[in-house]
Amino acid sequence: MKAVGIFGGTFDPVHIGHLRTAVELREHLGLDELHLIPSARPPHREQPGVSAEHRLAMLSLAIGSETHGDSVVSADLPADGLFADDRELRREGLSYTVETLAQLRAELGANVALCLCIGMDSLVNLHSWQRWQELSDYAHIVVAARPGWHLPETGPVAEWLAGRCTNDPQLLSNTPSGCVLVEAMTLLPVSATQIREDLATGNSVRYLVPDAVIQYIHQHGLYKQENS
Ligand code: ATP
Repeated sequence: MKAVGIFGGTFDPVHIGHLRTAVELREHLGLDELHLIPSARPPHREQPGVSAEHRLAMLSLAIGSETHGDSVVSADLPADGLFADDRELRREGLSYTVETLAQLRAELGANVALCLCIGMDSLVNLHSWQRWQELSDYAHIVVAARPGWHLPETGPVAEWLAGRCTNDPQLLSNTPSGCVLVEAMTLLPVSATQIREDLATGNSVRYLVPDAVIQYIHQHGLYKQENS
């Protein structure tokens, strides 16, 4: 079965923590393609100071792919299978993940494994997401384990996890949706918050952010004191 992953975030800006995670997820899960999807209007946090168009452009530069809204594996797929996917910029309103999954599932049909990749911090708060119990109807959920976070043991998410958790990555490519897998990841101690602060104070972010993205940030005057 073909397997497609999605990895969302504000990417404000994209950094090596995101990129390394994306590469490892694709390899560990054997995904044919992994879509990195900037959240145009994130529902759960302050709206980013930098536009979704700029954040998408930086992401595309970072992974060296053209923006790609369709879920078709094409002949010119970059070797590492990563895509910047602009679908949440093309929708109105807040960027709810459940709507993104429903849209992708409708495009892919029933016989493709779809994996939603999230951090453990997101899993713990999953019950605050729009229509969260429907997420596993459309996709598997792959949780990147971060130090200091554990699977919830009580509460609505813990109840929901019972019977869905698996240790077998193979199961994810044999079925289209419905499982939760916790995956140990290399978690580089990098955050976009720190990068925005460094840029605002004029410190270098070299080697934390790809050079092409640094160039874009300077060209467009992003993350200066007033919009950081
Ligand atoms: P901010 O500091 O603005 O909150 P962030 O660096 O956490 O941003 P996001 O765009 O919010 O980045 O994160 C997108 C996804 O990437 C989330 O699932 C998040 O858990 C994950 N992520 C963020 N930083 C890292 C990192 N250093 N290593 C691995 N995954 C990361």
